Amino acid sequence: MKMIIFAFMAITLFSSCGLKLKDHNQKEGTREFDTTDPAFNSYVQKFESKGKTQTGDSNFQVGDIPINFKELGSGDVQGVCNEYTDGTKEILIKKSWWDSVDEGFRESLLFHELGHCRLGRTHNDDMIQVGSNQYKASLMHSYIVESPDYTLHQNDYFRELFTQDRTTLVNSLSRTTANSK
Ligand SMILES: [Zn+2]
Repeated sequence: MKMIIFAFMAITLFSSCGLKLKDHNQKEGTREFDTTDPAFNSYVQKFESKGKTQTGDSNFQVGDIPINFKELGSGDVQGVCNEYTDGTKEILIKKSWWDSVDEGFRESLLFHELGHCRLGRTHNDDMIQVGSNQYKASLMHSYIVESPDYTLHQNDYFRELFTQDRTTLVNSLSRTTANSK
């Protein structure tokens, strides 16, 4: 039994290595960019569309939060939501990381950063235990929700992101885990 627990921990540590996300960043001055890189347009549209559905607000928009690529330096930060002392905000994404991952990881990161910048959410490191498996309870976890889990349960993660209601996520995780046994 000890061996199993150790193996599980090792996998968890390995899979989260290098993927820790930053919380809101309060910064002096003003943002670097005024408009969003067109590479992110489709993600903004999807976030707005999901936001309208989940909040019931037909006018839900991302608003004045430019998203752009920037090499964020060495270390393990793939993206950040910066809030500046003049009241502006922006999201910066590390391009070398973006170019190296699949769509699931990209959306998971971008929606996490929009969770900070647009929804004002902070990190939530709760886990959902299903049988012997553990899953992140929110896209706002300080370690990125990985592509396979995000892709399989994205609508449930959206619901949690916009409404903090994790009921459908718990149900859907329970179903998937039961089916895979
Ligand atoms: Zn974060």
